[in-house]
Amino acid sequence: MNARSANKACPYCHIGQLKSGDVNFIRLHGDAVVMTPHMPALTCDICGYREFDAAALQHLERLLDEAGPIAPRPQSQQKKQSLTEKSDTNTTRRVKR
Ligand SMILES: [Zn+2]
Repeated sequence: MNARSANKACPYCHIGQLKSGDVNFIRLHGDAVVMTPHMPALTCDICGYREFDAAALQHLERLLDEAGPIAPRPQSQQKKQSLTEKSDTNTTRRVKR
């Protein structure tokens, strides 16, 4: 029994089937080009029609809203996230007076 079908008929060409996969989503935010890799989307295997996941789009919109307007001048900030968090530091606090 297939409760939910993985493939969905293409609303554009009505021939192909939409297949889910991750694609690069590119859009303009002000003067900046925002590229989002691994955006969940449905792509028609015949005409190439793309339908993006509504929830993912909303999430992206919210992120862009929170980021605010992007300044036109280029920023050379490199965000380096150190995921190597070691909590073995000595956290004992000594209060000496
Ligand atoms: Zn199609």
